[in-house]
Amino acid sequence: MRRRARYCLIPLMLTPAFAAAEVPSVAVDIPPVYSLADRVMGELGSPELLIQQGASPHRYSMRPSEASALEQADLVFWIGEDLTPWLARSMDTLGADAEGVALLDEPGTLRLAYREGATFAPPGHDAHDHDHDHDHDHDHGSGGHDHAHTGLNPHAWLDPVNAEVWLDAIAAALAEADPEHAATYRRNARLGKSDLETLTRELEDRLADDRDTRFVVFHDAYQYFENRFGLSAVGAIELGDASDPSPARLDALRRRVNELHVDCVFSEPQFNPALVENVFAGTGVNTSVVIDPLGTDLPLGERLYPQLLGQLADGVRRCATRG
Ligand SMILES: [Zn+2]
Repeated sequence: MRRRARYCLIPLMLTPAFAAAEVPSVAVDIPPVYSLADRVMGELGSPELLIQQGASPHRYSMRPSEASALEQADLVFWIGEDLTPWLARSMDTLGADAEGVALLDEPGTLRLAYREGATFAPPGHDAHDHDHDHDHDHDHGSGGHDHAHTGLNPHAWLDPVNAEVWLDAIAAALAEADPEHAATYRRNARLGKSDLETLTRELEDRLADDRDTRFVVFHDAYQYFENRFGLSAVGAIELGDASDPSPARLDALRRRVNELHVDCVFSEPQFNPALVENVFAGTGVNTSVVIDPLGTDLPLGERLYPQLLGQLADGVRRCATRG
């Protein structure tokens, strides 16, 4: 049991060095979560990243330094097993002493189901009902099947309103583990939320003319961003879990791109930008805009998250304004 009252007994005269020793070791899964946790920790410390920048979280093997960061962690902030089922298994073994906070499970988090099919709304199959069942009822346990693409879409960090919810969740877990600095964590979270509210309003303004921009995404990672800012992709090349697209899926997408006069097809740095160019060569669609759900080329730090959302908005704008 943690003793919440303990901080009252620590005399103010104790040196900051002593207090700093109390800051928990924090590990996180992906760069956007790093950014949020770093914002809450502020001057007190920084988290350790378990999945190196530039790697796809859907499939990953931790390097020894990352496994050891997980082993030493007191707290692990991660999206959840819907994004990284392999990490759920590693946490059971390596991170057994750590408290895991799966952000997708935080109350107040908006959760959306994956959209079906290459073009999201095939004939006779209407768009998804977003009030889907929130239970984790699909199987993650069995050997080769790593990710159920028909379940919860785990890319929920791309909605800044979810990030606000998570700043509070991160602060609450840190405050419980480290009561001496509870006020600092909560204040940092409050300031972070206020910045995100401002950012959300700015992005709403910037994207106000893009409601009719037609784009195809590389994998179905952007649904939360689209939902928040009134955009809508007409399809995805790969499935949400980044598995390889079938020839039939690519044919359906090429037809869709022609029929709907799609403005652009976004590629992603994690996957294979050449695939996008090959598939859509000759259709006249713009394939030159790369977008990235993880902030791969951004400096790792608390600014990464707002910069990542800004980059996504830039990508959509460039798609809409091509010459
Ligand atoms: Zn993804």
